[in-house]
Amino acid sequence: MLFSSPGGQEITVRFNQGKIRTEGPHFNVRRKIFDNFLFQAAKKTRGVQTIEGFEVLRVLKKQGAVVGVEGCKLGKKTAGKPDKFFAKVVVGADGSGSAVARSAGIEPIVTSRHAFSARAYYSGVACERQMVELHYLKGVTPGYFWIFPVDSGLCNVGVGLPTMIVAQKSIELDKLLEQIIASPQFSQRFIKARRVSPITQWGMTITPQNRARCGDGFLLAGDAAATAVAFAGEGCGPAMRSGKIAAQAIVAALRQDDFSGKNLKKLYQDELWRVMEPENKAVSKLEFLTTRPRLFDFVIKRASRSKKLLSLAGEIASDYQNASKLFHPSTALRLLFG
Ligand SMILES: Cc1cc2nc3c(=O)[nH]c(=O)nc-3n(C[C@H](O)[C@H](O)[C@H](O)COP(=O)(O)OP(=O)(O)OC[C@H]3O[C@@H](n4cnc5c(N)ncnc54)[C@H](O)[C@@H]3O)c2cc1C
Repeated sequence: MLFSSPGGQEITVRFNQGKIRTEGPHFNVRRKIFDNFLFQAAKKTRGVQTIEGFEVLRVLKKQGAVVGVEGCKLGKKTAGKPDKFFAKVVVGADGSGSAVARSAGIEPIVTSRHAFSARAYYSGVACERQMVELHYLKGVTPGYFWIFPVDSGLCNVGVGLPTMIVAQKSIELDKLLEQIIASPQFSQRFIKARRVSPITQWGMTITPQNRARCGDGFLLAGDAAATAVAFAGEGCGPAMRSGKIAAQAIVAALRQDDFSGKNLKKLYQDELWRVMEPENKAVSKLEFLTTRPRLFDFVIKRASRSKKLLSLAGEIASDYQNASKLFHPSTALRLLFG
């Protein structure tokens, strides 16, 4: 993994710690391939019935509790009667604009923690195919510009920033992406590059403090529950982790035949936060660094010259909880005196 700071300092961090070293390899994958892989696996599972091209419009409630959903064929909102589905528990895993969350009474967008990104796929980018690049550039922090090599010689290239900054500065993210690519720092690497997809833009809430993620008869997972990690905006792993914890909670709730909000909070929301909180606390230290460009430069410069600090950076990249070590007195001494 390559990180660069606003002043142009760079470090290359190896995923050489803990389980990743022994259980690798790891891959960057295009979303189309990854999402289809997950969907087909779910579809094959015994007892699972899937409906494609269907849009959930809202949850159905009885005496305040969620008892199902109603929706229609994608794009047919106004035609005919909506179809209704009933269940003991509804899982809202419908992403950052979750219709399930919103209609159940939980606003999925937390403005102060919302980030907006623009990305496209490019062929012909000069890059190391094994390297993921995160560039925290002047004027772009606390967001970043990324180059993620994927399959077929393509790269996922994008830029993301807090939505409040995008709005305050009237930034057009697609133009910002093109400006960064054409800048002296990157233009040489894109001389032979060709954009092979449109630039798409999307927003999501980055994990805020603990918040409601369930209620009577429903729970939320993934972006609908705002589980993405700050600093890197990583959301796929946390979304799948929340799905796993949700599945375990539902099995327990089924056994108890209790899908009340109180029980789901105990089984799911509290358990999810127990897992997320240490990571969230540690990552807030990295977030702090990205809002202090000079300190960020200093830390990256020092880390590039110290084996111990580089190794710590590797530990952080492998498990964000290790970011808490960054502010240990021993690390501070190493940063100050090498
Ligand atoms: C530009 C960008 C780049 C990113 N890059 C990375 C990255 O490199 N690595 C990483 O880990 N994370 C990345 N993320 C974050 C990651 O995409 C999300 O955190 C992750 O996809 C969350 O998964 P999810 O299943 O909760 O939501 P989603 O992936 O959004 O899936 C939600 C699904 O629900 C469907 N849906 C939505 N509304 C309805 C409805 N009303 N009815 C029926 N279906 C509905 C959608 O069609 C979609 O299939 C990135 C995000 C952005 C915006």
